Parts: sequence; structure tokens; C-alpha cells
Amino acid sequence: MLVPPVTFRPVHGFDAPASPWGAGHRGVDLEVRAGDAVVATADGVVLYAGTVVDRGVVSLLHENGLRTTLQPVEPRVAAGDAVAQGAVVGTVQDLPAASHCTPRMCLHWGLRNADDYLDPLDWTVGQGPIRLKPVPAPRSRRIRRTRRCSPGSRAAS
Ligand SMILES: [Zn+2]
Repeated sequence: MLVPPVTFRPVHGFDAPASPWGAGHRGVDLEVRAGDAVVATADGVVLYAGTVVDRGVVSLLHENGLRTTLQPVEPRVAAGDAVAQGAVVGTVQDLPAASHCTPRMCLHWGLRNADDYLDPLDWTVGQGPIRLKPVPAPRSRRIRRTRRCSPGSRAAS
């Protein structure tokens, strides 16, 4: 089971895409502040810690083959590092443009099993029923779409 990477304040839930390239939200957004510590959701090994396009990304491979991806994160680990559940892997980057919750800041938490995107909350211990915070309506469809995971960010999600 996983633990949340930051204090558990979900803003956007998981929205499974209808196809591998379809629209959707391939993860969960948790409200954060820049500089918040980000921890490993489970024991694992760092697959990737670096920059994808404009944001820091940390990906972890867990024993059961699941992969966690966290962004935007300023990594404090390097690829190949072993991490224990709850260990700090980085801090939230001060990069509002990379947040899916602009003007608020969110950490995007993705979970994959091979090419399948999973809802991290299905794998999270002790969170009970999920209540999402209300978010202001997006100003337009176009803006909304740019804040969502797009195929272009697939590698980072
Ligand atoms: Zn997101």
C-alpha cells in the first residue's frame, strides 16, 4: 500500500482516459506549497530524477512493479537510489505554471503498472472516502485543457 507523497489535500481526482491517448487526468492532484517535502509513497528505487520539459520529475519503481511519478519536484535523490516509504525524495518546485491547479499549487501524483495508469487512491492506505475540494471553474475550455495531462506530458506522468 502507498502513503500520500505530501499532506493529503486532494484537489483533482483520477479520470481514466478512454484510450491511451485520450483526454483524462492520469493521476491525483494534492494541494501543496512550494518547498513542501515530498516523500516516497512506498519502498522502491529511483527510476528517474530530473527535468522533463520545464519541470522536475521523480519516478519511483516499487517492488510490485508499480511506478509512482511525482511533479513538479526538485529532486533530492538520483536515479538508482533506494528509498524507503516516507523518505524525502524532493521538495515541491515553485513552478505554478506546472501545477494542474493554477493559481493554487498542486503536486501531481501518477501511478502506473506498465502502460496502464492507475488511481493512486485505490492503493493508498487509510484515506477513507475521498472528498475533493471545490475548485473555481476554469475560464475556458482551452485553458482547462492545457492544465490537464496531455499526450505531450505522457512521459512525465
Ligand atoms: Zn494532475
